[in-house]
Amino acid sequence: SFSSGGPKVCVVGSGPAGFYTAQHLIRVLPVMVDIYERLPVPFGLVRFGVAPDHPEVKNVINTFTQTAKHSNCSFYGNVNVGKDVSVEELKQAYHAVILSYGAEGNRSMGVPGEDLAGVYSAKDFVGWYNGLPSCQKLSPDLSCETAVILGQGNVAVDVARILLSPIDILKKTDITQPALAALAESQVRRVLIVGRRGPIQVAYVPRPRKRLTELLLKTALEVPDEKEQERRNKASRMWAFRFFRSPVEILTNPDSSRIAGIRLAVNRLEGSGERARAVLTGEVEDVSCGLVISSIGYKSIPIDPSVPFDSRQAIVPNKMGRVQQATGLYCSGWLKTGPTGVIATTMNNSFDTARSLMEDMESGTVDISAAKPGSQSINSLLKKRGVKPVIFSDWEKIDSVETSRGEARGKPREKLLTVEEMLQVAHK
Ligand code: FAD
Repeated sequence: SFSSGGPKVCVVGSGPAGFYTAQHLIRVLPVMVDIYERLPVPFGLVRFGVAPDHPEVKNVINTFTQTAKHSNCSFYGNVNVGKDVSVEELKQAYHAVILSYGAEGNRSMGVPGEDLAGVYSAKDFVGWYNGLPSCQKLSPDLSCETAVILGQGNVAVDVARILLSPIDILKKTDITQPALAALAESQVRRVLIVGRRGPIQVAYVPRPRKRLTELLLKTALEVPDEKEQERRNKASRMWAFRFFRSPVEILTNPDSSRIAGIRLAVNRLEGSGERARAVLTGEVEDVSCGLVISSIGYKSIPIDPSVPFDSRQAIVPNKMGRVQQATGLYCSGWLKTGPTGVIATTMNNSFDTARSLMEDMESGTVDISAAKPGSQSINSLLKKRGVKPVIFSDWEKIDSVETSRGEARGKPREKLLTVEEMLQVAHK
């Protein structure tokens, strides 16, 4: 039996996980779902991760927009959960809370020199060219010829492609204007994508861009004939996979703090197939380069001390999305599974979490008999704390400013780059 007005649920984070979880819930039940998002703008990594030259991937935004505009769904951007409002306060206000705040931390390489100028995480580099406000100060130095990317996953390949793509292609995308200007001046001609293991292990990475992988592997493994070798020698830009190598140390010129290269350890494989382990041979190899981008993975971080967190796996410990030892608390997306898989994977695991919650409401594990105040009480807390949420129609103002600025430049969108400017437009 539903309380008057139906159960109230909130979702933390408005990436694919947040939106797909909300979508599944409102499709099936008369629940009210409120989505709280730290940034003034929605969609998470669809906006700030997916490469600008893959616009078709961003079509999911249309579905998310339909969900946001559903009468049983509300969006509250500019609300940093864990800071502006606690998870405990959300639990008081709602029958259930679903954490879907993704994986905003970064795995570090743990090698000397990692903090030098010229060494970036792929997460920050991607955030820079995609307009993530916190990454705009990065302005990477692209005056060198060789860049080394550590890691051989999807993101590494995205970064390599953006570094080497012709400007004429990029300028028709929603890549930010500062990134476009920097890439137009870039001297980077050669990108090495370095991995600990071999081509067979790369091939095991589950990804929908299987054909791309096959092409990459073919190019990487094929011994070129004379004509092909000549073509490659003449090519102004090139990339290559470098297998069986691990970073040891970032090298600097003796007279400067800028990077001069990277020392790589040479590995060999123990075992075979997907499980094969890279072990050191003791040999090392130095590669000259002026730019190192580490793309060895994202990781989730705890946002509230009251929420269980498994720091070894960097996820919220859960069974089918039910947070362990925390009735009424759920998780979905990368926070639930770790930072692997594509939007479709995230969609499926978010639907699973929604199903778990629906089962628990039905069985009475989650008590929905008493009415809960929902956004009403949270909004008054936020008001007291001087936080002004950005609702979905406010986001649509930002969206329309961005698309018209983009139109003027022949791009689908020109993103606003600071939280201040976003809030100005939203609350005009
Ligand atoms: P996210 O998308 O990260 O969403 C989390 C949201 O939570 C964010 O909006 C964040 O701002 C918000 N948040 C964080 N902390 C708080 C807080 N304290 N309070 C409130 N809100 C908070 N998949 C594809 O299918 N195709 C691709 O081409 C593709 N390219 C990718 C490229 C990159 C560089 C990356 C990193 C991933 C890519 N993916 C791609 C994978 C896809 O982006 C993920 O599967 C998906 O975004 C995970 O969804 P999520 O909702 O769990 O996390």
